[in-house]
Amino acid sequence: MSSIDLAFDRDHLWHPYTSTSKPLPVYPVARAQGVHLELEDGRRLIDGMSSWWAAVHGYNHPRLNQAAKDQIDKMAHVMFGGITHAPAVELGKRLVSLTPEPLNKVFLADSGSVSVEVAIKMALQFWLSQGRAEKHRLIALRNGYHGDTFGAMATCDPVNGMHHLFNKVLPQHLFADAPRIGYHDDWDDADLDSLRGLLENHAHEVAAVILEPIVQGAGGMRFYHPEYLRGARRLCDEHGVLLIFDEIATGFGRSGELFAMEHAGVCPDILCLGKALTGGYMTLAATLCTDRVAAGICDGEAGVLMHGPTFMGNPLACAVANASIDLLQESDWRGRVAGIQSQLRRQLAPLRDAPGVADTRALGAIGVLELEAPRDVAATQKMLVERGVWIRPFGKLVYIMPPYGIEADQLTELTDAMAAVVDL
Ligand SMILES: *Cc1c(COP(=O)(O)O)cnc(C)c1O
Repeated sequence: MSSIDLAFDRDHLWHPYTSTSKPLPVYPVARAQGVHLELEDGRRLIDGMSSWWAAVHGYNHPRLNQAAKDQIDKMAHVMFGGITHAPAVELGKRLVSLTPEPLNKVFLADSGSVSVEVAIKMALQFWLSQGRAEKHRLIALRNGYHGDTFGAMATCDPVNGMHHLFNKVLPQHLFADAPRIGYHDDWDDADLDSLRGLLENHAHEVAAVILEPIVQGAGGMRFYHPEYLRGARRLCDEHGVLLIFDEIATGFGRSGELFAMEHAGVCPDILCLGKALTGGYMTLAATLCTDRVAAGICDGEAGVLMHGPTFMGNPLACAVANASIDLLQESDWRGRVAGIQSQLRRQLAPLRDAPGVADTRALGAIGVLELEAPRDVAATQKMLVERGVWIRPFGKLVYIMPPYGIEADQLTELTDAMAAVVDL
């Protein structure tokens, strides 16, 4: 008998992308520790998801707990309008010093989607301030994912993002073909043709290009060639268009570099961070921009960046983010992620020839099994839980991005479970 009222949950609570008419089963988690989620019935599951890229240090970490406890005894929250505080200033310092030199201005947003909204608003306001109101559209990539709020949703893949449902209210942006050349494949400049064509024809009405560097996450878990990013930077400069990088999923080591843009050595005009920023403890995100973009915005008619959420710069979240960044930097995250990458490649490669498998791939601490057809989510999930792992399949994709501290034998349990999905 569960002490969590699952009947109430079923009848009253929305879960991500669910139906209240046909609810799918949910698994009651009582606590989480290290790389394990502990179900109410005592079963322990090895976590392959890091709670959607976020819990890079695992769960219930003493350093992060202590940071939260220390901060909550001082203040949980104060408004950020007209007030500042040490946790926000310390986080700003860390973000400015970790990111490429031109990114000097930090907006502390409350979730990844909001940081994307802020990035879009920065780009639009920048051009408004230059007297270029006609530069109001965005170019995004097919298979991209940037969040669920309306501004962000309008930049997600038009098909996966179901733009037709909302086509009367969504701004109509432009979509370049997704990069086709894989991270390790031979580069072919033709991969940039679609983006180049859009910029040649539309730069006069385009404020910015927005994309996820190197790893297209929720829109397909695809890893593309660093040369694409260098080309995108060059094309944006040639055509007078800003470049926004969404590193909400890839930030803080996940792809093998601290930020995925480092695979290509390029810097955007605007950068979105989120997910692992607090080590998965609470919701916090950040939008950084260059001095040029900031000055451009503030020189205009409005004179200010028109954004300021109630929980902006939440001290509790900032304090945990600071502890999480310190923990990451003190750890051998680079060695751990490289170790996860080689183990994933070794263990996933043999699945590639199995019937029903389209591809397997790994980059950093991300492992992907792509099937030829989607599996039934509920049945697959049940089998995975019975095997003692937490992996959340998504359409044709069975993918993992475990906490960096996962041990080799635990990772093997995850890849064995992925292999079991192939046989299901
Ligand atoms: C998760 C994600 C977002 C949205 O962040 P939320 O915190 O869920 O609003 C945006 N972009 C990317 C690349 C993401 O992975």
